[in-house]
Amino acid sequence: MQSFISAKNLSKSYGDTLALDDVSFQVYPNEIVGFIGPDGSGKSTLFQILTTLLIPDSGSATIAGFDTGRDFPKIRSSIGYMPGRFSLYPDLSVEENLRFFANIFGSSIEENYEMIKGVYTLLAPFAKRKAGALSGGMKQKLALCCALIHKPLVLFLDEPTTGVDAVSRTEFWDNLVQIRDGGIPIVVSTPYMDEATRCDRVAMIYGGKIMQMDTPEYIIANYQGSLLAIRTQERYLAKQLLSQIKGIDSVFTFGDAIHISLPERTEPIIDEIDAVLQRELSSTYSITEILPNFEDCFLQFMRQKSHE
Ligand code: ADP
Repeated sequence: MQSFISAKNLSKSYGDTLALDDVSFQVYPNEIVGFIGPDGSGKSTLFQILTTLLIPDSGSATIAGFDTGRDFPKIRSSIGYMPGRFSLYPDLSVEENLRFFANIFGSSIEENYEMIKGVYTLLAPFAKRKAGALSGGMKQKLALCCALIHKPLVLFLDEPTTGVDAVSRTEFWDNLVQIRDGGIPIVVSTPYMDEATRCDRVAMIYGGKIMQMDTPEYIIANYQGSLLAIRTQERYLAKQLLSQIKGIDSVFTFGDAIHISLPERTEPIIDEIDAVLQRELSSTYSITEILPNFEDCFLQFMRQKSHE
């Protein structure tokens, strides 16, 4: 299949900071591709290059065959971009914002209403409310409508769900799936690991580099080694004790549990963990073998990269 976006060897530095380090990837039609990585990993820099707002130091990218450097006017009129920060006019109403963005692109709400219908129905009761007075989830839905109102060929969403409550995040992702099914590929960045599973493919980005890019299912299925969850009231002490046991790859807190990754499932290490906890803890605890989630995979990749 022909790719819709192609990035080749993109690099960008700010002074001594290498924000993007030789990044190459493809995005195909009808897919949601997520760039997942912590703050400072290079996501916004990449999005700014793809949306023609920033010129890379080296490398190139094309969108629908147009070069982000040479053909930037063409690209600007054919993409929808939702930047990381709230980018709408807080003193304009929901409807006025939408009309404004439609007008910039020589279009109208009425002409392209079909594009936003799915999302706008939730916003319609607040049509006259000023954008600045909307809740976080509603602001983000309005920003999505504004990015869609000119019928773009592709959507770029830079951390669209940051700071938004869990229910609104789920609704927002349901909207994205509908938009993709309507034929618009989506490139989205997020610091939330749990959102990886809503993407068709995920690029794990860290230190300006793509560590791996694949389907979330493939990434999770290829987790190296095995994983244990320890539950105890004495988490701090248990973590210290576990960190001293040889043969454990890593120990980290995950919600109300401690996750331990082992290079392989070996009874002697599990017996040793059990023996140490039994000897040193004064309350009950549990040790369970668990399947990794996306965050476990991400942390494993970060560890592997830091040892390279
Ligand atoms: P993310 O979006 O993943 O948080 P960014 O692309 O914003 O990452 O940042 C990548 C790195 O580049 C960080 O170290 C950040 O501090 C640095 N950086 C980003 N923008 C600038 C800038 N305008 N000037 C200097 N450094 C920057």
